Amino acid sequence: MAYALYLLFLLLLIPFSVVAQTNGNITVGASLSATDEASSWLSPSADFAFGFHKLDNNLFLLSIWFDKIPDKTIVWYANEGQPVPRGSRVDLTADRGLVLINPQGEELWKSLSITGAVAYGYMNDTGNFALKDGNSQDVWASFRFSTDTILPTKIMERGEVLTARQTETNFSPGRFQFSLLDNGNLVSYVLNLPTNYANEPYYHSDTNDDANSLNSGSQVVFNGSGYMYILRVNGQRFMLTQGDVVSTTYFYHRATLTYDGVFTQYYQPKNSTGNESWSALWSAPDNICTRSHMTQASGICGYNSVCRLSADQRPICECPPGYSSLDPNDQFSSCRPNFIQGCYDGPGPHSSEDLYSIEELPNTDWPFSDYMHLQPFSEGECRNSCLQDCMCPAAIFRDQTCWKKKLPLSNGRTDRTERSKAFIKVGKGNFPQSPRLIPTPKPRKKNQDTLILVGSVFLGSSVFLNFILIAAIFLGFFFIYKKKVRRIHRGESIVETNLHCFTYKELAEATNGFKEELGKGAFGIVYKGEIDTGSGNFVAVKKLDRMVQEGEREFKAEVNVIGQTHHKNLVRLIGFCNEGSQRLLVYEYMRNGTLASFLFGDSKPSWNMRTQIAFGIARGLLYLHEECSTQIIHCDIKPQNILLDDYYNARISDFGLAKLLMIGQSQTHTAIRGTKGYVAPEWFRNMPVTVKVDVYSFGVLLLEIICCRRSVDMETSGVEYAILTDWAYDCYREGTIEALVEGDMEAMNDRTKLERFIMVAIWCIQEDMSLRPTMKKDLLHSLV
Ligand code: ATP
Ligand code: MG
Repeated sequence: MAYALYLLFLLLLIPFSVVAQTNGNITVGASLSATDEASSWLSPSADFAFGFHKLDNNLFLLSIWFDKIPDKTIVWYANEGQPVPRGSRVDLTADRGLVLINPQGEELWKSLSITGAVAYGYMNDTGNFALKDGNSQDVWASFRFSTDTILPTKIMERGEVLTARQTETNFSPGRFQFSLLDNGNLVSYVLNLPTNYANEPYYHSDTNDDANSLNSGSQVVFNGSGYMYILRVNGQRFMLTQGDVVSTTYFYHRATLTYDGVFTQYYQPKNSTGNESWSALWSAPDNICTRSHMTQASGICGYNSVCRLSADQRPICECPPGYSSLDPNDQFSSCRPNFIQGCYDGPGPHSSEDLYSIEELPNTDWPFSDYMHLQPFSEGECRNSCLQDCMCPAAIFRDQTCWKKKLPLSNGRTDRTERSKAFIKVGKGNFPQSPRLIPTPKPRKKNQDTLILVGSVFLGSSVFLNFILIAAIFLGFFFIYKKKVRRIHRGESIVETNLHCFTYKELAEATNGFKEELGKGAFGIVYKGEIDTGSGNFVAVKKLDRMVQEGEREFKAEVNVIGQTHHKNLVRLIGFCNEGSQRLLVYEYMRNGTLASFLFGDSKPSWNMRTQIAFGIARGLLYLHEECSTQIIHCDIKPQNILLDDYYNARISDFGLAKLLMIGQSQTHTAIRGTKGYVAPEWFRNMPVTVKVDVYSFGVLLLEIICCRRSVDMETSGVEYAILTDWAYDCYREGTIEALVEGDMEAMNDRTKLERFIMVAIWCIQEDMSLRPTMKKDLLHSLV
């Protein structure tokens, strides 16, 4: 099977064959077709190709790409990034240049600015595709119409614009632009789509000297040696490239405005052995999250979200606690509260403490949308004032000052250098109806009416009376706040992150003497508990009983790493206890249990829900592997370690535990972690453990999600079906994938996605770990 799989993937990896001239010249009358065997026009060195690039969705993009590197990075595209169907054609004509035609013969795009008759086309070794007249002068060139990328030898003139694509794989124009303005300033800014309204730049070179126009920028030069600079009118250079540039003889270079708004210069060795990818040399701006101040837009991320910089200087957008993404497939989507926001007027409890708690986000700011400025004010007063104010969804505190904010929150950012702290109000789930629903108005009781009437009289009367009323409310709440005793101490017990350090006694109380077991795992028992941490009521307390006893410092260090790991598809660690021989971890409680019980229970969950869960797990793993500050290999991905929150979002649990439980042992070549049926073969082969072990387990899990059955099932099915991975592979090879989802009409009707999911799963479970995909580049894109 391994050999067959290997062959299968070799086949998949074979690019559409390139048969073309090698001198770079293309004669008028030549054409290319969008088919699997499509040809492309190569540059003399064969470094660059022009032609139809086949995308994952089976459409073709007329584009230019680096042809010798494995991932064939695209550097230019025609037709505003719109891909075309199979059977489309591009013709090189004398009078209209390049003409793109769909299979129905309709013209979709043609090269513009034809200033003379075209004699021939030329695919240059610089990556520039040019149309030449009889005197070998350019009449059109791709370099003059750059899309999101520029290459060495390209010069950007004033007024030229690079536009980012929408996502890594969607090439239509996105919301970020990078431009050398007419005044000589080089800027990046966000557009308010669908109009082209440009917001305040989040990057500017400041090369627009009004007083001395000779100082202004006139061109952006990306020279043949790989350096980028702004050439001022007076001939001086304003260097953009930072750091030492590796030689363009041995390395490819490109500078791209990435789909998330960062302009980055990358390089990659020309003689790639297959494992290399692009490395970043420098980026502008250095921190896109903290540089953005847009008064008329959401900022880099969506509304109500927070932007954080990843290790590779790209923005990561996250929803704050209590909020979830409006569109989980869109990184820049806005976030909406998961609870009733505003002044609640439904049945049930009404006090602010009953309904809401305040979550603290250190080093976080939403700089705009204030409705009240309070100064001098203490941190506690700020927090409490927001909790008690039904208009207040969030407040920011810094330097004895409190800013109360209104929705939507914009330009959210979190960064170590940020001195503000954010308080965000989160619903406790005590609303009598589903928090997603707006409560239907119920007839009010008489005394409520009286109260409201009195309130309205007050609010409608003089400023003085209002003042007295507000003061009285504050005094009242201050009293209640002081009296509140069952708060768990913060501050002194915190270990660098904002994790709680619980005493054993506190946890014994919270779990009612470790009474209610949620489940039992290899390392101890998990109990349900109830505490007042300001993040909701219930928690899951995991008592570790197989910990190596030594390693106090390492325990704290590892717990800290876990505590800093926040993502909407991970179960959040709230705190821990490290007292004598007792080591416990306190997690958010996940009301809807494990994916195992969800998938293998009595009724089969819907295909749509299952695919959403698979995306969620992939996103969580991608974060652990590539986006969080310390890479985490989970080592025990299985349906028992995927939990489901209130809204059935997949949340990975137990990440970081592999390392924690190995404290005192060496990192690699160690005892097998993980669970039978899910562990990758390299565990048995004394090979180093990499993120690919998780990719393997993810593949097995994906098959379980597709088929709603366990990976190993000796009882209910016959021998030939007992091992799910073997059975799935057989079905795939024999073209009988319907058997895997028998009776599941929803899955059968979604055949393309079903096939894709099965292919990805098989891709993940290959014996040779180097043939498995990585979470980011290949896997997530193939799933979507
Ligand atoms: P392993 O020890 O290999 O991870 P496991 O995942 O089954 O196996 P535990 O992680 O100890 O074992 O969890 C035991 C059970 O406790 C889970 O199966 C789940 O039902 C429950 N559980 C764990 N964490 C939570 C949580 N945050 N919220 C709700 N239930 C939880
Ligand atoms: Mg577990």
